[in-house]
Amino acid sequence: MGQGHLIPTVDTARLLAIRGLKVTILTIPLNELHISHIVERDRRSGIQIRIHQTRFPSVEAGLPEGCENASSISDQPDMLAKFLKALSMLQQPFEEILQELRPDYVISIWDHNMFYPWASTVVVGKLGIPRLIFHGTSFFTLCAIDSLTRYKPHANIVSDMEAFVVPSIPYQIEMTRSQLPDDIKELNNIGELHTCIWKSDERCYLNNFFDLEPAYAEHYWKVMGRQAWHIGPKAQRGNINKANIDANECLRWLDSKKPDSVLLVCFGSMSRFSNTQLHEIAMGLEDSGHSFIWAMEGKGLIVRGWAPKVLTVGGFVTHCGWNSILESISAGVPMITWPLFAEQFYNEKLVTMVLKIGVEVGVKTWTIFGGEEKELVKRDAIKEAVRRLMDSGEETVGMRSRARKLKEMARRIQIGGSADSELTALIEDLKLHKRSIYIWPCNLGENKYFQLLLF
Ligand code: UDP
Repeated sequence: MGQGHLIPTVDTARLLAIRGLKVTILTIPLNELHISHIVERDRRSGIQIRIHQTRFPSVEAGLPEGCENASSISDQPDMLAKFLKALSMLQQPFEEILQELRPDYVISIWDHNMFYPWASTVVVGKLGIPRLIFHGTSFFTLCAIDSLTRYKPHANIVSDMEAFVVPSIPYQIEMTRSQLPDDIKELNNIGELHTCIWKSDERCYLNNFFDLEPAYAEHYWKVMGRQAWHIGPKAQRGNINKANIDANECLRWLDSKKPDSVLLVCFGSMSRFSNTQLHEIAMGLEDSGHSFIWAMEGKGLIVRGWAPKVLTVGGFVTHCGWNSILESISAGVPMITWPLFAEQFYNEKLVTMVLKIGVEVGVKTWTIFGGEEKELVKRDAIKEAVRRLMDSGEETVGMRSRARKLKEMARRIQIGGSADSELTALIEDLKLHKRSIYIWPCNLGENKYFQLLLF
């Protein structure tokens, strides 16, 4: 339901179809609009890929007609609740479609906010179709979630702002309770469900590569005992939205600037800010004295709506969505991290504490997706972070050089490297497991729908 998930989902569907698998993408009308031209092009060249559309019950759930994905929710208070209701109503059509199509395998996206747990558990469990999970995030994040769910280090500290160490994972990683998602922080129903599904999740693939975070990939495999294929980063990624500015225009503007002197500011496809925060961002960027793509007044290039992907810029202000981070790494660009919701605070720690290719703008508080921002980042903090990254001091030289090494690594993996062989191994495994089923019993009290999980 998020564009950030849609892009890698379509990328993978195409990769599998190009390798000879018969692939159906199950989605809703609004998403189909974005991806049908890509799928049609493949079909014309003889690849067995198609879209199966199901209606999104916006109106039934009290949403305006056409409000169908995460980007179309406004910040009205009850929009998110209605959106979640509409998602839950998709369970029945999903089940009917699976009964009709009878696939050998279902690949579902594991969503950190548990938007549609039934997709990968009940329905697949009930119908006996094996599933594979796509984690649109880092191994680091998966290891951190496992540690927090298992040891709950945040339960015994006094203040939300007190730092604690994430136990039993490589490197000393500190976080605060205020940075944790609600479902990790409080063991309410969603939290329990989350833990339960988390335990059942054994086989997955990631849009990622081993050498980016070998310690965490190994931890995931050896300590957590889970199987994962890392099939990223893609050499050429699908572009689902037409950019609101010509990429050539951006490039021309960038060419008129010194190398590494322009900052790209992009908070992904779902982030929302108050006018006050937008104003602070604009002022902070302006005060830093550096050129940027995002905002206003002479120094910057404003792109209203959808901007082209990370281009040849010198720094990237990111909300730490995994696609954005991977794109930044593939382009060898260091980052300013500004996490907001979902698993973005974990990704921030990977970038700043482990890979050491970014500086934090200093956000302290996790916000639910679609909710109001809980803290205002002031212009001085923004200016400070931009200067730290863009002033070319010793710290930046180090970050730039590490980012470029990662870019080289990513390039080697894309061109005849492990992304290809991992995909081959994944396909072999899909063929091997297509009818083997494992049932995981799970006690969720009253909720009859979640008594059996399948992986
Ligand atoms: N994106 C883009 N132009 C924009 C906004 C977003 O190309 O103006 C792309 C971005 O490059 C990335 C994706 O949208 O591929 C966002 O995914 P991510 O996982 O970073 O964040 P999400 O949108 O899921 O929060």
